[in-house]
Amino acid sequence: MEPMAGQMRLFEEETDRKQDRWRAVRDFAREMVAETLYHTRCAVCDAPGSALCPRCAAALPFIDALSACPRCGAPYGVVQCSECTPVLLAPFGYDEPPYDEAVSALMLTDEVRRIVTVYKDQNERSLARPMADIIARYLPPRWFTRSPAITYVPATVAARRRRGFDHGERIARELSFTVEAELAPLLAPPRRLDQRKLGRAGRIGNMRKSLTALSGASIPETLILIDDVCTTGATLFASTDALKAAGAKTVFCATFART
Ligand SMILES: [Zn+2]
Ligand SMILES: [Zn+2]
Repeated sequence: MEPMAGQMRLFEEETDRKQDRWRAVRDFAREMVAETLYHTRCAVCDAPGSALCPRCAAALPFIDALSACPRCGAPYGVVQCSECTPVLLAPFGYDEPPYDEAVSALMLTDEVRRIVTVYKDQNERSLARPMADIIARYLPPRWFTRSPAITYVPATVAARRRRGFDHGERIARELSFTVEAELAPLLAPPRRLDQRKLGRAGRIGNMRKSLTALSGASIPETLILIDDVCTTGATLFASTDALKAAGAKTVFCATFART
């Protein structure tokens, strides 16, 4: 049975690669058509030309990496973090964040929220590249000494169907090109995940139940987990738990923005 299973896996991997290539060609063609029909406008100021104009990109509320918490990425937490303390995490079943380190590039202001909304809900897929480039600037070089693979928090099946793409996958794919790291889809699309009405503890409980590693996925030892926005940290916590339960040794997290 063993050689057969190996061949089957090789066949599936080859099929996945072919599908990935096909998807990339299809997405490119779609973008060309969309670009011709509707000229791209800046998500923040609406100026025509690019999905995020240089002026708006330069004025974004970047988090000062030197004064952020080295563990959870909270702004101004370098000396004493007010967000990843054992006291704050205890009610949620943690004494420290399950991930090894996390960084966020931006504060979630109205402008940044607009970028995320235009990207996800107004189908401006070309924002994935500038968003990935902004995240890439925040990835500490020391993370790359362990040859990490890039993975992401997948969209729910319903959200993917509604938007026609997986927002996390697309940013992670762009990022994997930028930093020349392998893209590894590892988490299964979460089930029933409307978190909006839940508090922090409820979110983490809900998330833990619904996020699992894809069955049969071979999990790289070191991962950089990408998500668009970190609000309570629940998604990153639960995703890290799932990846570590499946065999990951080190999980670094990076988000475009945080509250
Ligand atoms: Zn602009
Ligand atoms: Zn912290």
